[in-house]
Amino acid sequence: MIRLTQGVPARLAAVRARIRAAEDRFGREPGSVALLAVSKKQEAAKLRAAFAAGQTAFGESYAQEAAEKMGALETLRVQWHFIGRIQGNKTRQIAERFDWVHSLCDLKHARRLSEQRPAQLPPLTACVQVNLDLEPGRAGLPPAQVADFITACAGLPRLKLVGLMALPAPREDEAARRRPFRALRLLRDRIATGDRAGVTLPLPVLSMGMSADLEAAIAEGATIVRVGTAVFGSRDDG
Ligand SMILES: *Cc1c(COP(=O)(O)O)cnc(C)c1O
Repeated sequence: MIRLTQGVPARLAAVRARIRAAEDRFGREPGSVALLAVSKKQEAAKLRAAFAAGQTAFGESYAQEAAEKMGALETLRVQWHFIGRIQGNKTRQIAERFDWVHSLCDLKHARRLSEQRPAQLPPLTACVQVNLDLEPGRAGLPPAQVADFITACAGLPRLKLVGLMALPAPREDEAARRRPFRALRLLRDRIATGDRAGVTLPLPVLSMGMSADLEAAIAEGATIVRVGTAVFGSRDDG
């Protein structure tokens, strides 16, 4: 166990340094980019090590796996973010156990999450996932459908839409990496400034950037980077 977790604090410090350097290099306000530690397929002991080093927000992609870790870490004040594909039979668990969902792209799921969000909890904070590459089979809404989707969600009382999320395909060079992130920011700007049926939505959150491309995402305005392997190591090493 010790061997498995001892690298986590050093990796976490390195990722924080990358974020700070990118904020500096691209003229972003210091501290304006939050780190979501993506802990899918990582053992609870590693999350515990990250928590001890000051990391409180964790991202999980699989509801069942997340439930086990929530049980193991229930004495810690962790903020849980659901970032995976939403399945219809898992909405209740997401509504009851998570603080955030980043991968909303289906109105039926949005309605259910709002209905199933327990009254004693604050509204579920949500981002709409956008399929920027328009690849069939990839999760997310096509950019052209995002504004109408957000308008349709605006009346759901237990859901608080705060922004957009994207997971673009890997790209070779920095300029190519920045393009989809810029597209997400511009889409957000268009939606946030348009007056849609009297609904004003500032949508401050851009959830974009991972281990390999967080600098490009920060350059284009990311407010949350979702980083897995750079924090916890490879998902295959145990
Ligand atoms: C796995 C995953 C990440 C993190 O990817 P890394 O390359 O390990 O940093 C980020 N976002 C989503 C939606 C993921 O599924």
